Amino acid sequence: MFWDEKLSPADLFFDNHLHFLTLGNISISAYMSFFNNNKLSEAATVAASSDYIYKDLLTNLDQTLAPLTIMEGDESRVIQILQDDICGKFEDSSITPLFSDNKFSLNNHSFKKIVLTPLIMDFDYPYVQQKNAYKLAPPHSVNKQAVSLINAITAYYVSDKDGPFIIRPYIGINPENYTMDEIQMFLHRYFSNWSGTAQDGLKAAKRLATFKVTDDCVYPNFFGGIKFYPPMGFDAAPQNRLLREKVNHIFAYCEKHGIPIITHCDDQGFRLIPMEKSLNLTSPEHWESVLNKYPNLYLDFAHFGRQYFRKNPLKNKVSTLWMEKIIDLMIKYPNVYTDISFNAFESNFWGSIFTLAYSHSESEQEIIRKKIIFGTDWPLSLLKISTAAEYIRRFDKLPLDKEFKYAMVNENPRNFGFRD
Ligand SMILES: [Zn+2]
Repeated sequence: MFWDEKLSPADLFFDNHLHFLTLGNISISAYMSFFNNNKLSEAATVAASSDYIYKDLLTNLDQTLAPLTIMEGDESRVIQILQDDICGKFEDSSITPLFSDNKFSLNNHSFKKIVLTPLIMDFDYPYVQQKNAYKLAPPHSVNKQAVSLINAITAYYVSDKDGPFIIRPYIGINPENYTMDEIQMFLHRYFSNWSGTAQDGLKAAKRLATFKVTDDCVYPNFFGGIKFYPPMGFDAAPQNRLLREKVNHIFAYCEKHGIPIITHCDDQGFRLIPMEKSLNLTSPEHWESVLNKYPNLYLDFAHFGRQYFRKNPLKNKVSTLWMEKIIDLMIKYPNVYTDISFNAFESNFWGSIFTLAYSHSESEQEIIRKKIIFGTDWPLSLLKISTAAEYIRRFDKLPLDKEFKYAMVNENPRNFGFRD
């Protein structure tokens, strides 16, 4: 049975940050060309941090192969692998799977369905010089990614009516790649008649099972929000006037309609611009002027601003911790959130969160608890953990109080983008 009308949002578990990436989505040649064109500075940059996970991407195959085996296929296969993972296929058969008998069970709570938020990223970055004779920068249109993903979700709903997942993707955009007219069309296509309510979100997801996708269709509320990715050049506060108008147009639209934004916010990841520029564009400080202008924006700083470089390797100066800045912004602005994707299961990471949070008053700590959202960042988190099930189980075992855990996997993501 497909989920019934009575399915309550309180019965949903949210993974609010993951990716259904396929290799064709990623600008691999641009990534390798960027390294190839900047060998010396890139070597110096990655040498400056011992736990910078991405530094060995091309040489440490043990680590890299796991996500590759997921991404080397189509979206339907990616969804199927994650379902098998959550249903215990890759665990010891003596362990009760996380999802079995139509419920998803953690230590203190069980849920009926899992809401997944795969983030489509705008991988178009034609500005890296490719030194081959063709000088080609292969296209990675987000519209094509959306068509392909929506078709895969439709096929999933049709083939498995009892499956664990409700899927509500985000769409990425780098405004630098588009004209103002194209940006207006983009917003119309993905977010006209958009609603952030749980009721409409569930209805839309259900409607998706019979939706016929065309290349230029307008999506009726299928997308949950927008993903920005500064390490590929997205600038939230650009100097250039024309670009600033385009970016501000998106922010104004999102603030007016309550459309959530997730921006990548740690200092590693897939990067196509020099480190110093990337650190500047990614930092929460860089968003301050945006929030000043659009104070009601729903904005999630992903990965809680985790920094692998304590010092800016190029300037050798200690800056304010991004995590500290994010906490300040969450306290100051009503709709600023953070997510703990990629890191949720790591107790040392929680140690640094608590150290900072305890320096705030009790009422501020209460606000912080309401602003942290769970995510896995699967399959990228396979760079450091074996399966999605292991990620979730280790998070579930952390000595955090159960009300806080429930808030992270249900109440907080609902307030962010699946509202009552
Ligand atoms: Zn991610």
